[in-house]
Amino acid sequence: MRLTRGASLADFADKINANPGSLVQVVFTELGEMVTATQSCTDETLLLLGTHLGYDVTIVSPEEEDAALLDRFDLTFGGDYDEEADLVSRPPVVTIMGHVDHGKTRLLDAIRSTDVVKGEAGGITQHIGAYQVHHPVEGGVRELTFIDTPGHEAFTAMRARGAKVTDIAVLVVAADDGVKPQTIEALNHAQAAEVPIVVAVNKIDKEGADPAKVRGQLTEYGLVAEEYGGTTMFVDVSALSGTGLEELLDAILLTTDAALELLEDASVPAQGVAIEARLDKGRGPVATVLVQRGTLRVGDSIVAGDAFGRVRAMLNERGENVAEASPGQPVQVLGFTSVPGAGDNFLVVGEDRVARQIAEQRAARERNAALAQSRGRPTLESLFDRLKEGENTQLNLILKGDVSGSVEAVEDALLKIEIDHEVSLRIIHRGVGAITENDVTLASASDAVILGFNVRAEGNARDLADREKVDVRYYSVIYAAIEDVEAALKGMLKPEYEEVQLGSAEVREVFRVPKIGNIAGSIVRTGLIRRNTKARLLRDSVVIKDDLSVESLRRFKDDATEVREGYECGIGLGKFNDIKTGDIIETWEMREIPRT
Ligand code: GDP
Repeated sequence: MRLTRGASLADFADKINANPGSLVQVVFTELGEMVTATQSCTDETLLLLGTHLGYDVTIVSPEEEDAALLDRFDLTFGGDYDEEADLVSRPPVVTIMGHVDHGKTRLLDAIRSTDVVKGEAGGITQHIGAYQVHHPVEGGVRELTFIDTPGHEAFTAMRARGAKVTDIAVLVVAADDGVKPQTIEALNHAQAAEVPIVVAVNKIDKEGADPAKVRGQLTEYGLVAEEYGGTTMFVDVSALSGTGLEELLDAILLTTDAALELLEDASVPAQGVAIEARLDKGRGPVATVLVQRGTLRVGDSIVAGDAFGRVRAMLNERGENVAEASPGQPVQVLGFTSVPGAGDNFLVVGEDRVARQIAEQRAARERNAALAQSRGRPTLESLFDRLKEGENTQLNLILKGDVSGSVEAVEDALLKIEIDHEVSLRIIHRGVGAITENDVTLASASDAVILGFNVRAEGNARDLADREKVDVRYYSVIYAAIEDVEAALKGMLKPEYEEVQLGSAEVREVFRVPKIGNIAGSIVRTGLIRRNTKARLLRDSVVIKDDLSVESLRRFKDDATEVREGYECGIGLGKFNDIKTGDIIETWEMREIPRT
């Protein structure tokens, strides 16, 4: 019997035509575990129950299950080509790795500026996560794609998610510094991924540069330069002066051609990998994808991980609109309804409906798997009981933010908090974008607290959090979050003041009133809106402006002190005028809460 990871007793019962209630009983009496019928079970519980009842249970991995899911829609990711297909060669995808300060970033910039094909006038280079350069060779011009995030961390994180992006690695070693710990680390990562390596010996312009020494050092790690009888190409460069860049690009192409056959079928629906994604305040979810097979076009229905959408526009690294992207080409895609994860595979499907169904089923599966994993964690209350008993215990957190930078910064800061008790802090999930139902479910299952930085819970997620009594805290400054977490870890569970939501209103129309400014013609969606209370403005669940106040409030022509749910009103936010239809105005006040 095949069961998916995180299946519940109800799923189990369904497969063997039994009553879920009786399975709950069996698990309780025979395995001594209390689970409800719909709760996700651990692999162990499912296997034990199987053995007990005489079934041979196989837990299906997420990858296998995903393949099966796609198969149901007659889709596959990757795989073999049709023998008859008209294959075209595609550019190699290159990642630059090496020790810190050896010049990776500088080299990426220098290579970018060698591009012989310039964009339309006015196209400004932007960081979208990858770029292409055109390099003249004998008999024409060839393209190379560079991943614009140096280092092996991103490379490995993507690989861990099952994405194979990089065809070839450039190992940068500063000639004045030689081989360093991260040089070796990068080398190991590239070799583990079976990616061919070209060595760029950088900073040869510097005094004390000793390129021969670098060659000697790397011999010990199995990278023997061609001139010493080996197979690895070493190129001396200076990212500063630009020396050797042409030769480096030549070496990359030569190594590629010798080691790999980069042929792709450009005629099929596109597939590839999302390499970078974020929530843009104006444009919504923005994802840079690398097309690996087929051709991606504006208007395509697309699914990446548990995000889906329709390609509304595509931009290249010069900010120019492109109508289609071919294998090996990175493009920024607008039109996703949520933010995909870096390293998520994407594919184009026939219809929006299919994209949505695949995304939803993946989201549900992830939720189940996370639930199964997180069972048995201590609650915030039991954190302190356990502390008293001298047990080790942990505080679970989920971080959500508007940009990946802020999420990382918070995570960094949190992990640096000195904890004197036997408490540990664990960040069980982090991500960019609004707080979703998925996050709340995970939090409720693992007794985690959710911290939102400049993002809010979506409507359904907020209801769910209320129902499940999940603690969701909103912040716009990092140190406030750190303080709260520190306080929680020290046993002061509740701050003295608490932000109390009063209500929210949706902007239906914006009225320009001379001398006064913009007035938000709104309908109160929850609670009430009261004059002179604090307010913030949200657009697509992202906080646009905090620290506002309801300076004027009107019902029709009359001033009002408060307006209740379901009624229309005009809200003035003082000098703040950036109000758009569809924005949400949230009001709140600080209330003292008694210490328990
Ligand atoms: P990364 O940490 O590997 O990304 O290194 P960076 O690209 O930030 O470079 C580190 C420092 O080395 C910067 O100050 C660069 O200006 C400098 N640098 C990079 N390449 C060269 C080079 O070829 N010659 C010289 N002299 N300095 C370089």
